[in-house]
Amino acid sequence: MNTQAVRLDELYQEVILDHNRNPRNYAKLTEATSVAHGVNPLCGDHFDIYLVKEGALVKKVAFEGDGCAISKASASMMTQAVQGKSAQEASALKDHFIGLLTEPAPSPAHREGVGRLKFFEGVRNFPIRVKCATLAWRALEEALKGTEKQVSTE
Ligand code: ZN
Repeated sequence: MNTQAVRLDELYQEVILDHNRNPRNYAKLTEATSVAHGVNPLCGDHFDIYLVKEGALVKKVAFEGDGCAISKASASMMTQAVQGKSAQEASALKDHFIGLLTEPAPSPAHREGVGRLKFFEGVRNFPIRVKCATLAWRALEEALKGTEKQVSTE
């Protein structure tokens, strides 16, 4: 129990606090091609995710809103991780991230799939925080659906 608490403290100190204080891509994008609103009533986290898609490319991602440190840091890092990827890659990353945090046993494929975001796995030790960490990604999922234009299938 104590070691788990220490792990989360470390997360707060090293990365989460930084992103919470200075969220990246924190803006309302008037040129957004898709907007999704995510709410986690349990904690009070609420974010708008803005997406600018150009063909199959996720050209720009930004978010606006408020929430706890984990939800905000997760949203901030999500925008960094997804920007510049194809919608398909973004969606795969989203699946890995949500899978890593919500599946009964964390799979090595998900751990590998999320890359440097893998430290979020520590949030599994705090089930109430899982919804905070995955909120922005679930909103991203909706935003990606909203812009699904099927430009090219293969
Ligand atoms: Zn929260």
